[in-house]
Amino acid sequence: MRVAFLGLGIMGRPMAANLVKAGHEVTVWNRTPGKEVEGARSASSPAEAANGAEVVWMSVSDTKAVESVLFGSQGVEQSLTQGMTIVDSSTISPSATRKFAERVRSRGVQYVDAPVTGSKVGAESGTLIFIVGGDEAVIETLKPLFTAMGKQIFRMGETGKGQAAKLAMNLQIAIIYEGFAEALTLATKLGVDAETMLPLIQASMVRSGVVDYKAPFVLKRDFTANFPLRLMHKDIHLALEAAKEARVKLPALEIVEEVYEVASEDGYQDLDYAATLTLLEKWAGVEVKGATA
Ligand code: NAP
Repeated sequence: MRVAFLGLGIMGRPMAANLVKAGHEVTVWNRTPGKEVEGARSASSPAEAANGAEVVWMSVSDTKAVESVLFGSQGVEQSLTQGMTIVDSSTISPSATRKFAERVRSRGVQYVDAPVTGSKVGAESGTLIFIVGGDEAVIETLKPLFTAMGKQIFRMGETGKGQAAKLAMNLQIAIIYEGFAEALTLATKLGVDAETMLPLIQASMVRSGVVDYKAPFVLKRDFTANFPLRLMHKDIHLALEAAKEARVKLPALEIVEEVYEVASEDGYQDLDYAATLTLLEKWAGVEVKGATA
């Protein structure tokens, strides 16, 4: 298929590379020039990349970024053609997604929200999980692209519901990780080290995918970004905003947001969100580490 891929960050670049590898004709664009994908053509604007594409796929930071890529000067809107499909793999606001979809639908263009879970490793290995909202028949036509980049698709309903489900997923990741980090901090302070705690956690019902994934990084004290803290903070804000719109109270997430707020003020934005642990350590006056640190 002829695909325009917009946004070559931690996620977008390997996703676009996997489309090329699967034999699709890919044109890429990134806001900051200089990022490229081998085997893909590079365009100088979203409008140029989208020109002649059957599918326009986005992976950019946030709601504002998607809005500007679509509707800014030199945006995709200038190259919309009847029958084109826009897919958004960024994590953004569900209500803004519905508005963007309405605006392009009036021009005969389909809109599918397809945020992902699986992090950098999943993007690189083509094993992402797509959380999808949109028309069933349109999603069906995108199957060759989904399978080039991911291992599973979960359909959540109409446009916007992919984003809604994604926020409900990241809410859990943020709270589960906070629980893990607080548990290790308390245990360490009380004299039980992380290497001793972990086998107990893994043998019990506390075990989780979040702990499986993050524990080795924590033990090594490797906080380089797989999922940057600034993006998890953005997702926490999105979930709280969606909750406010729907008149839902999320007390645990509100408290966790405060931890992210302080972490951001302390300059941790570009580290992995796992670095929130270091704030707890600072407050407790301990350091959680394993033998590999
Ligand atoms: P990233 O590495 O920070 O890349 C962000 C991308 O967005 C870059 O290409 C950046 O361009 C572009 N961008 C930012 N603001 C823009 C604007 N105003 N206009 C146009 N482009 C703009 O982020 P990422 O980790 O790839 O994440 C991309 C999306 O996937 C985010 O919504 C994130 O929440 C979601 N996500 C990430 C992960 C993960 O583990 N990393 C997992 C699941 C979902 P520049 O190069 O010019 O800055």
